[in-house]
Amino acid sequence: MSSEPDYSHGVAYVAGRYVPIAEAAIPITDWGFLRSDATYDVVTVWDGAYFRLDAHLERFERSCRRWRLDPGLDRAQITDILSRCVRLSGLRASYVEMICTRGQPPWGSRDPRQAVNRFYAFAVPFVWLANEQQRAQGLHVMISDVQRISPRSVDPTAKNYHWNDLTMGLLGALDAGADSVLLVDGQGHVVEGPGFNVFGVVNGRIVTPGEGMLEGISRRTVIEMAASLGLEVAIGPVPVPTLRGAAEVFLSTSGGGVLPVTRLDGQVIGDGRPGPITTRLVQTYWAWHKDPAYRLAIDYAA
Ligand SMILES: *Cc1c(COP(=O)(O)O)cnc(C)c1O
Repeated sequence: MSSEPDYSHGVAYVAGRYVPIAEAAIPITDWGFLRSDATYDVVTVWDGAYFRLDAHLERFERSCRRWRLDPGLDRAQITDILSRCVRLSGLRASYVEMICTRGQPPWGSRDPRQAVNRFYAFAVPFVWLANEQQRAQGLHVMISDVQRISPRSVDPTAKNYHWNDLTMGLLGALDAGADSVLLVDGQGHVVEGPGFNVFGVVNGRIVTPGEGMLEGISRRTVIEMAASLGLEVAIGPVPVPTLRGAAEVFLSTSGGGVLPVTRLDGQVIGDGRPGPITTRLVQTYWAWHKDPAYRLAIDYAA
């Protein structure tokens, strides 16, 4: 009797095959590994449906073009692969990642134009950026003195794996007892953290950086939700003191939507609890998951 592979912890698509996540491996010579020469995107599945899949696919295409990578697949083909990963896993709440790597040039060549680009994907159980208690009480975030890599060096608007600044900043914050970290740019403006964008509420207005960071789909959702709720959003530089003085601070990410921050560098924000605007946005974020305009159900029977 042959035993069925165990897909319940997630499924990956590698070299044209669907494998249990624990068995997924890439060639060690892929420049995606050797040079962080890759791009990716993450879309979530909630209650058996993608949230804003089109926006993620569109951004993935843009990122690929920016880095001169070609997955060799169109949107419909990528969607089929992602959906098959989710379907095989049976997961109703999933974190779904698509990746295009440089691959490898022919032996002896260092010319990236000669490399055959690779497409990989996987679906794993939903990954939260904040646990239940952090979501209820708010995160403690440190503002790192590690500077975000310059936009003139690596374009932050195209997703990439140049995360060493973010990871070193995160390690410093975790060592200091915080939950996560925010990085600043060369002018001392807050830009973003490892996988999330940042917002403050200042004089009743929502403020968020406009440059030097990845333009998150969740960030876009926050901006659109604010418009629909009649809340004003000011997009522009956010100096560190502005964020410290904000009445509310929150993060946006596909890893959990809108996440309240109630302490910055040990200092309490507002009254130390998630604020009213943050709370409304959290509720609206999950309500929008039921909106057919943003929701694409996965056919688990196919
Ligand atoms: C993916 C990412 C974000 C958040 O983007 P979402 O589409 O909202 O998940 C923010 N910053 C960085 C560096 C990222 O890689």
